[in-house]
Amino acid sequence: MLIFQDWYENHRSSCDCPNIHYPLTMEEVVIDQDAMTHLYRFLRRKEYSHALVVCDDQTKSMADTIICDEQMPCRFTKSLLLSDNQGDVLADEKAIVHVLIDLPADIDVMIAVGSGTIHDITRFVSYKVGLPFISFPTAPSVDGFNSMGAPIVVNKKKITFQTHAPIALFADLTILCDAPQHMVAAGFGDMLGKYTSLVDWEFGHNMANEPYCPAVARMTREALNNCVANSELIKEKDREGIRVLMTALIQSGMAMAMFGRSHPASGAEHHLSHFWEMTFIEEERKQLLHGAKVGVAAGVIADLYHNEVKDLFKRDPNSDTAFLTRLIDRIPSGEELRQFIYQAGGKATPNELGIESNLLQESIHKAHNIRDRATLLRYRNRHTLTS
Ligand SMILES: [Zn+2]
Ligand SMILES: [Zn+2]
Repeated sequence: MLIFQDWYENHRSSCDCPNIHYPLTMEEVVIDQDAMTHLYRFLRRKEYSHALVVCDDQTKSMADTIICDEQMPCRFTKSLLLSDNQGDVLADEKAIVHVLIDLPADIDVMIAVGSGTIHDITRFVSYKVGLPFISFPTAPSVDGFNSMGAPIVVNKKKITFQTHAPIALFADLTILCDAPQHMVAAGFGDMLGKYTSLVDWEFGHNMANEPYCPAVARMTREALNNCVANSELIKEKDREGIRVLMTALIQSGMAMAMFGRSHPASGAEHHLSHFWEMTFIEEERKQLLHGAKVGVAAGVIADLYHNEVKDLFKRDPNSDTAFLTRLIDRIPSGEELRQFIYQAGGKATPNELGIESNLLQESIHKAHNIRDRATLLRYRNRHTLTS
């Protein structure tokens, strides 16, 4: 925990930009071989008496291992979320009511055991009923475990609610190393998306006065660089590689928490990913992992920015061409990003992921409307769709 706390506070105290730098609300963060022991110690120290353990079919055996261990210091109730016809658990109204039905009156803490979706459901319900929740991720697949935002599907539309971060996170390295390769590749893909999100953020700040914090940008960049420098170890699911990846995902979440918004970690690549996700929900298709979509979308966005947007600057009399070109040059080429994803064992092109070319084209034209945020994709669409 000290590593995260010191890292957070060092960055926080180093910045004198006008934004609020929110303090770290998490009491404990552990990435270790025996994270379960740390979890039990934490439950004991906090004197919790009854925990609601939220899991799904994929993680129920892990949840059973946690609650059946003789070290478990409190009573528990298990809430097992059911998959839909496509085999997915969605963070939607149905899942929320399911957990509420399973919630006994004397519960004093909730524990999310699983990947991102389980966390979003637990985060939302615990916030609404005024309980703390603890994160127990089972795969290094996304950077949202410790975020405050809970993306929930309401009436088939995804809405992100600002709720709360977990009070503690316990990530067991043995369990994380056992995660399927495509989930590891998805976590790596979510991190690769920072190449484009950080550039979009700086563009938005310079061109549209979006709030910007250099310390938060540095934190995110540092997490990304560590990940990329260790891609070989991550690919092999080496213990150290998985530790680096999980650390980076948590650090990216912490950077967002310090800023109080998702700007550092979410730009046009996330907007494309959300667009694909919404289409899949509408068409009742099997969902893809968030990070898998983000990694592929980052490659698409990198190609667009390098191949099209740079030329647009040259034709735009109002643009600072030299500055904006330098900005885009911080993003590797689309091909380099795709090679990173292949190395990590993931799918790298829209086609491989099952995104048809008409959906891809539609998303490129419309995804900037998903958020009211200045990105280079929005700039591109304003200039190409009107000229
Ligand atoms: Zn993401
Ligand atoms: Zn700042």
